[in-house]
Amino acid sequence: METDNQNRGPALVDGMGRTIVNLRISVTDRCNFRCTYCMPADNVEFMDRVNLLSFEEITRIATIVSKMGINRLRLTGGEPLMRRDLPVLVNMLSSIDGINDVAMTTNAFFLKDCAKTLRDAGLKRLNVSLDALDPEKFRDVNRRDCLDQVLEGLKEASRAGYESIKINAVAMRNFSETEIMSLIQMGRSDGFEIRFIEFMPLDSDRIWERDKVLFGHEIVDLIREKYELVPIDNSLDIGPASEYRFADGKGKIGIITAVSNPFCDHCNRIRMTADGKLRTCLFSTRETNLKDLLRAGASDEDVATAIRDAVRIKEPGHKINLDDFERPVRAMHAIGG
Ligand code: SAM
Ligand code: SF4
Repeated sequence: METDNQNRGPALVDGMGRTIVNLRISVTDRCNFRCTYCMPADNVEFMDRVNLLSFEEITRIATIVSKMGINRLRLTGGEPLMRRDLPVLVNMLSSIDGINDVAMTTNAFFLKDCAKTLRDAGLKRLNVSLDALDPEKFRDVNRRDCLDQVLEGLKEASRAGYESIKINAVAMRNFSETEIMSLIQMGRSDGFEIRFIEFMPLDSDRIWERDKVLFGHEIVDLIREKYELVPIDNSLDIGPASEYRFADGKGKIGIITAVSNPFCDHCNRIRMTADGKLRTCLFSTRETNLKDLLRAGASDEDVATAIRDAVRIKEPGHKINLDDFERPVRAMHAIGG
């Protein structure tokens, strides 16, 4: 049986031979934004707080999976910075033996006041979601008028010494085209990799249609009208993004073709929702209830077995492009992107 580097126990391998090394942990389904591609404008039904995993419960699960070879964690949500005392959790997670990377995806609204504290607590990398640098377009897509505050958060994060800061922009037709160049120029001058993520059918409003996705190859073509791009060979460290560097040596970009050319064959991640459900795919229609197991007094071994059983039948891939595609009931903010 395959084991991880430190021989801590059998690695977490699914039925297709993919080794899982990455856990995304949603800490809340709440958010102060209402992005059109994610949440409804109003009347959102949030999880009951008693159902949210405590920091101790999250840390226990992270410790269990760290013994199965998971070494990278990413905090997400909802907006993870809506969860009080997040640096405490970051510190607990980054102290786990075997975890060598704790990262976070955030809308950056609250980052100005906590970027340094989070970094000091052990957070290594940040992904900041920013779809538009035009204030009106920002407001249209995020349904909040606060571009300046997000940019201030980003600036503060730059000062705090993170190992990397990437910008995530959802790529939507008839929206993103005008934003691509300004985002890229910011990335090149401030040292952020800009990653364009094809809009996926995970929005609460169910407005997604294939025609609304701005495809990765179209983005690359648009950028190439102005800049020469050189594909980066990532074969040794395969991630969801196809990366390109600018031929003039100034920065790089990433394209996540989640719809047009999914990365499922190389997927090495699983997710845990804020209410403690393990999901083996962003588009899973089944979940494993770890919260109930923990709260019923299960041993670490029982929890590990439940995780292994779930991973064994991890979905081979999502079916967005197939006739039998079924949207998950949860929208993105309740899954944890
Ligand atoms: N609130 C945080 C944020 O926005 O960064 C973290 C949670 S958010 C759900 C995580 C990532 O999912 C963000 O980068 C967001 O842009 C992306 N996302 C949300 N809905 C999406 C969709 N329908 N298609 C593609 N990406 C989406
Ligand atoms: Fe909130 Fe992030 Fe969803 Fe936007 S994408 S509504 S910031 S959870």
